[in-house]
Amino acid sequence: MNLSVDIDKYSGFCNGVVNAVKKAERYLDTNKRLYSLGAIVHNSVEIARLQQKGLEIIDINRMKELKDDVVLVRAHGEPPATYKLAEERGVSIIDCTCPVVLKLQRDIAAKYKELKPLGGQILIFGKVGHAEVNGLVGQTEGEAIVVESPADIDKIDLSKPTALFSQTTKDINEYQQLIDSINDRGCKFFSAYNTICRQVASRYGHLADFARSHDVILFVSGTESSNGRVLFELCKKYNPRSYRVENGDDVKRDWFRENESVGICGATSTPRWQLEEIYYICKHL
Ligand code: SF4
Repeated sequence: MNLSVDIDKYSGFCNGVVNAVKKAERYLDTNKRLYSLGAIVHNSVEIARLQQKGLEIIDINRMKELKDDVVLVRAHGEPPATYKLAEERGVSIIDCTCPVVLKLQRDIAAKYKELKPLGGQILIFGKVGHAEVNGLVGQTEGEAIVVESPADIDKIDLSKPTALFSQTTKDINEYQQLIDSINDRGCKFFSAYNTICRQVASRYGHLADFARSHDVILFVSGTESSNGRVLFELCKKYNPRSYRVENGDDVKRDWFRENESVGICGATSTPRWQLEEIYYICKHL
């Protein structure tokens, strides 16, 4: 089948994930095993590759059993309690918290200190239970309220001084809608901070153009990636013939017609080699 196939040059790992994977690989070049607190990247194919090199994913309960070991903290970051636990257990941390997330953690911690004596509150727009969000809530002694959608603000007392931050990978338009709904409620002492990662935000406009300019879009991402879900929905909005695939086996020949153009793109958790693998499969259909 003759297809014209392009890989989106802006897709692939973001800097935070590139850095974490590089650090893990460097460590595993000279060591047999490295524990990672949670999946280093939301992509099962890439995880399997790293596991072969000796990466072992653990949760916080498993970390409580370690002693004098080495644990990688991924780009999402961790709450202060994790660092305290590491100290108690003599565990060394390879800290891969993304600088963008680290700045957000610090800003939230500072705002929490400022608002607490005034009876204020911190709101975080994000997904309940998401690792980055847990790390952010941890900056406020667990007091920050996680808001998943504008509907959630009905349950919040907005007469208090309120500061709103966003998880770095949220959709900028949804964040703006939330800010508008809070402003519409007449919250007097309200400040909102644009904390969405620029690398993610800048992909939106570009990806919309990329999706529109191809007959078929193959979006390569694991189902676990929240950034992947958001970006795939965006592709579908601009090109209904968008398909999410995780590996080569997911690609179906009957999605394409002779001489069509195919665009291959992915999430911030999709490695370049995976995009290239799908490219190769499309070229040999
Ligand atoms: S999406 Fe942005 S903030 Fe999140 S890890 Fe990647 S570069 Fe860092």
